[in-house]
Amino acid sequence: MGLAQGDAVLVRAAAKLIGEVDGRSPKVLLDALQRVVGPEGTIFGLTFTKSFLFPRRHKEYIYDGGNPPITGGFARAVLGAEGAVRSLRPTNSWTGVGADAVAILEDHDERATCFAPLEKMMGLNGKMMLVGCLTSSPGFSTVHLAQAHLGLNRKSLMGPISGVHFQRDGETKVFTKWDTAGCSRGFGKFYSDYLMADKLIVGKVGDATSLAIGVADAYAIERRILEKNPRYPLCAEKDCLYCRGSLRYNLRDIPGYFLRQAAIKLVRRAVPSRIES
Ligand SMILES: [Zn+2]
Repeated sequence: MGLAQGDAVLVRAAAKLIGEVDGRSPKVLLDALQRVVGPEGTIFGLTFTKSFLFPRRHKEYIYDGGNPPITGGFARAVLGAEGAVRSLRPTNSWTGVGADAVAILEDHDERATCFAPLEKMMGLNGKMMLVGCLTSSPGFSTVHLAQAHLGLNRKSLMGPISGVHFQRDGETKVFTKWDTAGCSRGFGKFYSDYLMADKLIVGKVGDATSLAIGVADAYAIERRILEKNPRYPLCAEKDCLYCRGSLRYNLRDIPGYFLRQAAIKLVRRAVPSRIES
């Protein structure tokens, strides 16, 4: 997959697709990746956690840095690894194991955007890898970074109404998501662009089809496309509230989205009454 000793790599994985291995596959995958990048390399996982609409009402959940991630088995494996370093950002923390984990994650807190660590990885010739999750959780995280740099991360009407309570310096505070990463179900559209630019490595990790690309390469391609067409990575779901009902750079879809939702509600109300009669 083009990984080498000393690489800093952000990995997202559906580890169960690797197939038959000894032991729990997320841990086996992490061990294998660590062997490839060696002691000078670093493996990163996205250890994102819960957020709530109207966070002030949700005091029952406080993010304290120890909360389990909701981003799957590989994220849990990275967080549980010896020497793991987790960034401070509520709702969108990253965790790294290896030589550059502290340097890349030390200032990733509530003031930083969700994917800010990619900026430092770019300078270190960092890479990204998808193992098995090409369609189930498509795309590379640099799309979110390019969206943030172009100001698109602040253009969802949904953003500022969600967040979480978190602890910092012995105090409990409320974090409001001023930067929404948003829906990524359409990010697979970029795969053909990476291929056309001859920047994508396609291969197998066990039985899992996998992709790898340089952070700087992916970012350059995505940014060029997003500058021309910010709507390019929107997903195909007509019912996606984020893509179709919330974006100030996709106003044309908003009336249709809400009309459709209203129609669906009317039909749902009408159908049981017909059955009763
Ligand atoms: Zn969507």
